[in-house]
Amino acid sequence: MSAMVLVVQKFGGTSLADAEKIHRAARRAIRAKLSGQQVVLVVSAMGRTTDDLVKLAQAVCCDPPKRELDMLLTTGEQVSIALMAMAIDAAGHEAISLTAGQLGLVTDSAHTRSRIQRISRDRIDAELAAGKIVIVAGFQGADQAGEITTLGRGASDTTATALAAVLGAKCCEIYTDVDGVYSADPRLVPGARKIDEINYDTMLEMAATGATVMHSRAIEFGKKFQVPIYVRSSMTDAEGTLITAATPGMEAIVVRGVTLREDLAVVAMNGVPNTPGAAARIFSEVAKSNILIDDIVQNLYDGGRVANIGFSTNSSESAEAMAICRRLGKQLGVDGVEIDEGVSKVSAVGLGMRTHSGIAATMFEALAKEKINIDNISTSEIVISCIVRREDGPRALRCLHSAFELDEPREDDIA
Ligand code: ASP
Ligand code: MG
Repeated sequence: MSAMVLVVQKFGGTSLADAEKIHRAARRAIRAKLSGQQVVLVVSAMGRTTDDLVKLAQAVCCDPPKRELDMLLTTGEQVSIALMAMAIDAAGHEAISLTAGQLGLVTDSAHTRSRIQRISRDRIDAELAAGKIVIVAGFQGADQAGEITTLGRGASDTTATALAAVLGAKCCEIYTDVDGVYSADPRLVPGARKIDEINYDTMLEMAATGATVMHSRAIEFGKKFQVPIYVRSSMTDAEGTLITAATPGMEAIVVRGVTLREDLAVVAMNGVPNTPGAAARIFSEVAKSNILIDDIVQNLYDGGRVANIGFSTNSSESAEAMAICRRLGKQLGVDGVEIDEGVSKVSAVGLGMRTHSGIAATMFEALAKEKINIDNISTSEIVISCIVRREDGPRALRCLHSAFELDEPREDDIA
């Protein structure tokens, strides 16, 4: 193993949307190389390629086999790696493009949402030792049998941080179309402020509750292997946001950001007999198909004899979740299964919540003042979330952003 400093740079789709942007990204990689670092690039598909491929698949088949969807979608990243290698070559430097299968990024076999099992460093190390910039296709994997898989939409970030962890990179740089992580989505909240430094846990929760700037599993890798992640603009040299381990100052800030998730649906089973084991049956069935459950909603009624048990889940998986619940509903003899697609979730996130009380009260009061009804509440150590009607979401986000004084400039702006 060489003692050289290694950096992983990841470029998202908008940062690679055309030839000029590919050259710009290539120049960044070359600059890092010339400064004496080893460079591994992870790239996404160009522009909206992945979305276009999904549409194409749906035009051909209303329910495309997942294996074939992976086969199709991974072509987007394959285009990018080859073009990037050519751009670097054109600038007079050596590079090599690698698919996940070629480098040995092994996943399980859950097509469209597989998980990384191991990453071999042999091929990458050999190419780096030969002085090349290594360009890796993000988002994709290969299972034990060599079948092509994908890690879930937006998961090029995950490829990047996982590689950074395995390779012992000094930093994983995420180049994107915004200049960092904001206290709220600036498109929805005009007063949103860029955060200079944020800890892994807060960022993880912000991503899980709706901040789309990074894939949440990517942050898990960063945290687990303590790789600093630097999110910044691919178009400018402006300072971005450093995602890193918590410092004591970070704890002082109670709420760091507010987020909105609009890609949710609530699936509920009504009239579930309130007996031990009912919830276990439902959630183990859902888990078996790898569907991610967001929040669980349960209400008892009829003197506690029956319950409504539901959960929020990603919209893209709600139809599948619904089918499972219908099947199970018959076996359990429930009254009915319902899906509510008109929901959104607003959340407030911050490490300081651990030691402060009154956050929930501030949140509910702010929503009440706006006459926004709360359908469900969930909390964890550093997050409070409310399910609201979809049309109330952006307004809820704005009122929480000001209720927690996130639009105010602050002197201790470090966490
Ligand atoms: N191209 C993939 C997607 O659009 C992966 C990524 O961009 O991170 O989901
Ligand atoms: Mg992305």
